[in-house]
Amino acid sequence: MPTLFERILAREIPADFVYEDEHVFAIRDITPVAPVHILVIPKAPISGVAAVPESGDHQHLLNAARRIAEAEGLDAGYRLVINQGEAAGQTVPHLHVHLLGGRPLTWPPG
Ligand code: 5GP
Repeated sequence: MPTLFERILAREIPADFVYEDEHVFAIRDITPVAPVHILVIPKAPISGVAAVPESGDHQHLLNAARRIAEAEGLDAGYRLVINQGEAAGQTVPHLHVHLLGGRPLTWPPG
C-alpha cells in the first residue's frame, strides 16, 4: 500500500510542490505551523529515521532542505525537524523533514 507521500509524488493527491530532483521532493505542509512549513521527502519510501539504512546517499535530503531554505529567503534561520514514532508525533510512515521558518522559533520546543 503506497504511503500518502508516494501518492502525492505520483500526483494522485494534489499538493503544492516547491522542489523535485532525482532523489527528493518537497511540498508545502497542508497544516502549516509557521509561515514557511515545507516537507522535504525522499522519493524512496523509507518509513522513518529508524529505517534509514546505515549507508547510502542520505546527504540529498539535507542538501535539498538547505537549497529550499535559501530559495525561501530564510536567511535569519530555520529549523529542520524529523518526528520519529508515534510518541514524537509522526503520522505519516514515510521519512520526511519539516522545514520551518519565517517566524522566531523558540527553543526548547514543546
Ligand atoms: P508528521 O506528523 O508525520 O511528522 O508529519 C506529517 C505532516 O504531513 C503533517 O505536518 C501534516 O500536516 C502533513 N500532511 C498530512 N496530510 C497531508 C496532505 O495531504 N498534504 C500535505 N501537503 N501535507 C499533509
